[in-house]
Amino acid sequence: MEKIEWLQQLSERQPEDATTFYWLGKELASNSRWLEAISAFSKGLTYCGDDHELRNNLLQELTTSTQQLQQSTSERSLGPIIRNTEDPLNNDQNEEVVSDETCDGSETYTYSIKNNPGFQVIDGGQKPEPTEITSLNKVTFADVAGLVELKKTIQIRIISPFFNQGLFSKFRKKIGGGVLLYGPPGCGKTFITRATAGECKANFFPIHITDVLDPYIGVSEQNLKAMFEKARAQKPSIMFFDEIDTIGYSRSKSSSSYMRGVIDTFLTEMEGIDTSTDQVLIIGATNMPWDVDHALKRPGRFDRLVFVAPPDLEARKQIFELKLKGRFSKDIDTYTLAKATEFFSGADIENVIERATEAVLEEILDSGVERPIMMKDMENTLQVVKPTTIEWLQTAKNYVKYSNQSGLYNDVEHYIRQFGRLI
Ligand code: ADP
Repeated sequence: MEKIEWLQQLSERQPEDATTFYWLGKELASNSRWLEAISAFSKGLTYCGDDHELRNNLLQELTTSTQQLQQSTSERSLGPIIRNTEDPLNNDQNEEVVSDETCDGSETYTYSIKNNPGFQVIDGGQKPEPTEITSLNKVTFADVAGLVELKKTIQIRIISPFFNQGLFSKFRKKIGGGVLLYGPPGCGKTFITRATAGECKANFFPIHITDVLDPYIGVSEQNLKAMFEKARAQKPSIMFFDEIDTIGYSRSKSSSSYMRGVIDTFLTEMEGIDTSTDQVLIIGATNMPWDVDHALKRPGRFDRLVFVAPPDLEARKQIFELKLKGRFSKDIDTYTLAKATEFFSGADIENVIERATEAVLEEILDSGVERPIMMKDMENTLQVVKPTTIEWLQTAKNYVKYSNQSGLYNDVEHYIRQFGRLI
């Protein structure tokens, strides 16, 4: 059977499987069946939920297919998913907005299909009212437990300048450069950035640098430029570069001029942004700040390093409460759990709850007797789940001891001084 046909049948059998739509879209695109590919990628976006990697891939493929469609000179029939539109909301700007929102409405991705008057992609996403574009970012600081100091820092350094651009330009103060969040994995770097976008009512663009890379000469640079352009066009927006060490590290070590071109483009684009006029904020994240090239930490680049520590007792209690909310549970003492989970990251706590839930479900399926998640289930899970931040903290301890002359890692040093004896 032909691969496309097989994938189509599979997608009919599993109509909510985003990965199947992704592969179907790829196959269709490789056969230049752009319209059907767009439909498949759009459907994938509808069902991909919290899988950020898949979402990014789908978005990228959707954008490529849309561009290909625009370039295509063939007079092919437009098929069922494209219709001629006289949309009063948009046609005066000659621009269309394709949007997507996760099931919980926590995130919005929007982008424009420019110079494509009269056509609108109607499958897999709804066209929002213009006012909704930014208001769908529903994760806010209220969803982030603890990190009180970090929230204050973000408020002063990021959100205030964002909302007081007039004041900053009056003093000829350029708001540029980016903030680099660092710390152990799973402690909320991505989560708080998304919440910051929610607080600023800005669009959130999470970008993995590996998504940008392309083996053809010059294409990676173009991809990167296109992403910056997209963020500018969708202002206010926050671009979030995860694992920034991947490029920082490669710059000095890599002899490949190919990679250097990408990095230079990245730096040029970044330096070209003035948040006060562009309304684009750049936030980077890394688990390994010491591997990030110094060139990236110079003024105008990622010149503000902010430590995202493991959650403290109160924050852990809050995370347990937040993540247990809406689950069928009874008499769970979150304070005792918080006390028993020193050095657990937010992601570790989520893992504890997930495992306990799975164990209860398994038991119910076995016995046929329904019951809520209870304290003993959580305690049993705690016997097997260990904190993932310890290894990071041990490494950080060494870096702080031997290479903190510049004071760059003072926040970690302070944290380690407080808890070092336990690490
Ligand atoms: P990082 O980017 O630091 O590796 P993430 O931001 O991806 O970690 O966190 C992983 C998950 O853990 C998040 O999706 C979130 O559900 C949960 N989490 C982490 N920290 C917190 C926090 N402070 N409050 C609420 N949830 C958190």
